[in-house]
Amino acid sequence: MIPYQTATIPVTVFNQNCSLIWEPGSRQAAIIDPGGEPGRIIDAINRLNLKVELILLTHGHLDHAGGAKALKGVVDAARLAAGQEPVPLLGPDVRDLFLLDTIEAQASHFGMTGLRNVHPDRFLVEGEVIELGQLRFEVLHTPGHTPGHVVFVERQIRLSFVGDTLFHGGIGRTDFGYGDYDALITAIRDKLMPLGDDMEFVCGHGPGSTIGVERASNPALQGNL
Ligand SMILES: [Zn+2]
Repeated sequence: MIPYQTATIPVTVFNQNCSLIWEPGSRQAAIIDPGGEPGRIIDAINRLNLKVELILLTHGHLDHAGGAKALKGVVDAARLAAGQEPVPLLGPDVRDLFLLDTIEAQASHFGMTGLRNVHPDRFLVEGEVIELGQLRFEVLHTPGHTPGHVVFVERQIRLSFVGDTLFHGGIGRTDFGYGDYDALITAIRDKLMPLGDDMEFVCGHGPGSTIGVERASNPALQGNL
């Protein structure tokens, strides 16, 4: 079994689950969905003595991506001082570009400050694999909540990061102009459910779960699988 550790930091008024995952030996870490409050994320990184090697985004909503630019700035300053390259900021799928370009407008709509529009170093596509030491995060495109939503699947350790696709007891909202309920159900049915009942997941809000528990008991999936 590949050793790993995780931590979750709920950020913004939406209590979005910013995730840290790292290798205990090397302390190499990935940060997934730093939606805000970069100072609290940096405090956790320093307290845990982690080396941030990746920043990943599941989708372009403000509470998932709004802190990414500031966080990358702080991480890059430390890395450059140590003679290292800037940290790669990857994802989501390019179809969420319009959301990343309007984070500041989304934030002002909610009366939130400090969140920033952001462009990744590279958008991600279905099927590619992002490595962090021995950990391998497979990218799956799971549209519906947003057009460019992706999830990160680590099959070896049986852990996935699914953003706002699937929740414990629910599914992502699709009541935005760009939302697509049928696409979301199709992505959950055809891409998440086949990951296997023992696959655990961290979601964007609230407690995580497993595919098996949600297959058996999620009211939003009954009759849809
Ligand atoms: Zn969202």
